[in-house]
Amino acid sequence: MLGASNATRFLAFVAHRTSLPPPAPEEVAESQPSNATLQGLREAYRSGSLLLASAEALDAFRAASAPAGAPPPTSFPSLLRGYAARLSAVHGDRRLRRRRGGLRGWLVERHPPAAGLRALLRSGSPAALPALRSLLGWFRAELPYFRSPCPGCGEPSSFLGYAHPSKAEASADPTARRAELYLCEACERAVWRFPRYNLPGAIVEAGRGRCGEYSALLYAMLVSLDVGRVRWVVDWGDHVWVEVLVGSRWVHLDPCEAAVDEPGLYRGWEKNFTHVVAFEKRRQPLLSLRRYRGEVTDLTDKYAGDRLGEREISNETIAESIAAVQGF
Ligand SMILES: [Zn+2]
Repeated sequence: MLGASNATRFLAFVAHRTSLPPPAPEEVAESQPSNATLQGLREAYRSGSLLLASAEALDAFRAASAPAGAPPPTSFPSLLRGYAARLSAVHGDRRLRRRRGGLRGWLVERHPPAAGLRALLRSGSPAALPALRSLLGWFRAELPYFRSPCPGCGEPSSFLGYAHPSKAEASADPTARRAELYLCEACERAVWRFPRYNLPGAIVEAGRGRCGEYSALLYAMLVSLDVGRVRWVVDWGDHVWVEVLVGSRWVHLDPCEAAVDEPGLYRGWEKNFTHVVAFEKRRQPLLSLRRYRGEVTDLTDKYAGDRLGEREISNETIAESIAAVQGF
């Protein structure tokens, strides 16, 4: 995981974590680690003394601790379950409600027209789309896509690797799985951290994120405004956005691009699609036992158009896997 040419990076990380010894080099160098080695490495990671060069190593940790016969963590059914759990956590983020006025209060204070969105979206008014464009324009100005400038001096930094969230980061968001570490050679901050949060309360506090953070936050904002139905759309090609129901039509919203109702946007990007799936916590009738029920919808055709790439599983497996997650 660490090559000799990375000595500077390695020493910077050790200096960042002086209180803990680095893992034994022979463990790090192993190319086909046993489960026992993986467990040892996972402990080192959890204690904060192991830096991972890639996110795939986290999947290897999860695979090592999964029960025998369980599908691999990167399989379609496992990812579906993971995304559903993530949306449930976003939806249930209590931190937002503790804030005075909740997320809605925070938003309306900064972007007052947001208060009128509920009526516009529910009625399907022609003024709904311009109002959404105004919201997303404000969003991108307030929360621009984070491109890793050093928080100390603003100079570009180089990516060091992934580390386990610190105690403070884990308390801000117990669902956070990793923090990205960067090295700035221009100033004394040297190594700085970018925790990858999922929960809207933590994202608002941190004030920085990429499409994962901002799509979750936009989803939570629309839910807090009680605009009706909102869903979180995950593209297996590493992008995430949101859809909201305007009248009876689902409208695409991308907070990083400040794009409204441009579902063909991604076909211009240099990529093919495998799966695009929407997750929604749908409000249930007043007398039902649960207030919300999870609903999963395959939107691949809508977004991929003729740019559908090769899939590793059959349409039947896709449909069965989605059916298995319904009601989350
Ligand atoms: Zn710096």
